[in-house]
Amino acid sequence: MIVQLATPGVQALRPYAPGKPLPELEREYGIVDAVKLASNENPLGPSPRVLEALRAGFGDLARYPDGNGFELKAALAEKHGVDPAAITLGNGSNDVLELVARAFLSPGSSAVFSAHAFAVYPLVTQAIGARANVAAAHDGNDGPRYGHDLDAMLRAIDNDTRVIFIANPNNPTGTWLDRTALRAFVEAVPRNIIVVIDEAYFEYVGEPDYPDVTIWLPDFANLLVTRTFSKAYGLASLRVGYGVSQSGLADVLNRVRQPFNVNSFAQLAAVAALEDEDHLHDSVRTNRAGMQQLVDGIQALNLSYIPSVGNFLCVDVGRDPDEVYQALLREGVIVRPVDNYGMPGHLRISIGLQEENQRFLQALEKVLAA
Ligand code: PMP
Repeated sequence: MIVQLATPGVQALRPYAPGKPLPELEREYGIVDAVKLASNENPLGPSPRVLEALRAGFGDLARYPDGNGFELKAALAEKHGVDPAAITLGNGSNDVLELVARAFLSPGSSAVFSAHAFAVYPLVTQAIGARANVAAAHDGNDGPRYGHDLDAMLRAIDNDTRVIFIANPNNPTGTWLDRTALRAFVEAVPRNIIVVIDEAYFEYVGEPDYPDVTIWLPDFANLLVTRTFSKAYGLASLRVGYGVSQSGLADVLNRVRQPFNVNSFAQLAAVAALEDEDHLHDSVRTNRAGMQQLVDGIQALNLSYIPSVGNFLCVDVGRDPDEVYQALLREGVIVRPVDNYGMPGHLRISIGLQEENQRFLQALEKVLAA
């Protein structure tokens, strides 16, 4: 069997299960007006300026993109007050997570991350054949249930640990870490371990104690912050994200990067998206209102949920979540099963437009009553 020729890590790999695409549901179930609340996308879409900027890309279709991403790096460097050499562009921030694994992990080394953390951390670790030291999450007594337990993460570090992945806030739990606790953690980690703080949902978080970790970069040569244009900026289809770190770490990541990993349209779109702060604020406002609507609706159904600062909410549906997921599909509503995350009973719902959230709540009520 060909699979036995693959490296041991790849042989045991279970690929990432993405949210079901709308056209697939429409094909399989013959439903025409389905809604997708399954991949934490921005329901407003991107800024209108992005669409305008993309037109410039059509003239250059035969040319490779700028492999060094000059304009986008310049814009990001200005945003973060760093040198362009401190930026690592990725085909989504997912790409940057892979670069970290490729550059710093190997068979025999280990990566530390929390239980219930974003699924790509175990995937990239295993693909390399490195060991995953998974720290138990809070049980609800000394921190938010399912949230990262930083003390447990420190204890999970061993002599072979080269990388730590932290999602702040985390997907799918929506839990977050405050400034004081996270700073103390980063200070306590030995400096020969790369600390990745994944801030894919940064723009959505309004908590006053939520830190912008990029500010700490001058203090830590081993710190990498990842951000994305897939969520609040509404560019998930184009695949563009980045890492920001000191330039020494960025240099290492860029050594293993594909030469043209971010396409021209993605670069043009990301630059335009950064220029439209009003659209970003609209997106965040829409998310806040939608989150409130969803929380109110879930409470009205007497269901419990994990309080979330992201653009998604994990709900304990109180019965076999796969049955509820399937029944919701038949109602034309796609949400996300999280059975691979060790959170029994839960489904994850991305915040949509008001009418999409309403459609979900009505479908859920119907499904639970059946
Ligand atoms: N980090 C987290 C926590 C995420 O939830 C996601 C997307 N699901 C990513 C990173 C990767 O997103 P992208 O590759 O689109 O930037």
